[in-house]
Amino acid sequence: MAGNERVAVVTGASRGIGREIARQLARREIRVVLTGRDAAKGEAALSALAAEELRARFHELDVRKPEQALALMNWLDHEYGRLDILVNNAGVLLDPKGARVATIDVDIVLATLETNVLGPLLVTQAVLPLMRKVGHGRIVNLSSGLGQLESMEAGTPAYRISKVALNALTRTLAAELRGTGIKVNSMCPGWVRTDMGGASAPRSPEEAADTAVWLATLPDDGPSGGFFRDRKQIPW
Ligand code: NAP
Repeated sequence: MAGNERVAVVTGASRGIGREIARQLARREIRVVLTGRDAAKGEAALSALAAEELRARFHELDVRKPEQALALMNWLDHEYGRLDILVNNAGVLLDPKGARVATIDVDIVLATLETNVLGPLLVTQAVLPLMRKVGHGRIVNLSSGLGQLESMEAGTPAYRISKVALNALTRTLAAELRGTGIKVNSMCPGWVRTDMGGASAPRSPEEAADTAVWLATLPDDGPSGGFFRDRKQIPW
């Protein structure tokens, strides 16, 4: 491949917002690696892209499995020798209807944190050496308005706690990486028509992906350590 072609990894990319982020990145002539738990779903997503004459590749990645994150890193190093963009999109919303902090099953909280917080942490740890190698990187964490402390309300406690923690990961990592050329930001896609958001959500995956792609392709003087919706900074 040509030396200046950017390489992007999107987690949980075989459906929903992740799939659309992968599509929009591929349209910008970025080498996109869709990752997910299920190879058959991944291949179906690649076929949909191919129908639009967009090229991408699939690699297995359950974000809860450190050995798979490491295998991905080794594969990326072998195939491309670099990674420019990581979109930590994979996420779960496991709170039952009406869930409250006072009564929620802690196993639900743990399972949510495992995917939504430890997942991005593990994947980031695994691939960061590739970004450091080229002295350049963009990490985008798919957070949520439900993780905004400013407007924190009752309901969906496991999910809210996980997105607050993900935002803390964004800020602390951005501070750690200051001056390295690697930028880390959180974004809220809004309420989106996906399996998670449901059919009555007002936003399309296309609209939701826009800010993620913008953050993934920020210029060198772009922000780091922020929280964004619709390309605008929002309060934590
Ligand atoms: P979705 O339709 O439910 O898709 C979730 C994706 O995450 C799927 O590809 C799923 O893969 C993947 N995933 C789940 N657990 C995984 C794991 N352990 N390893 C790898 N992949 C895993 O959700 P979405 O609406 O596209 O949401 C994407 C992101 O946006 C999430 O982080 C979500 O919290 C955030 N968000 C969504 C909304 C909304 O309204 N939809 C609002 C705010 C924030 P499988 O097919 O294997 O399950």
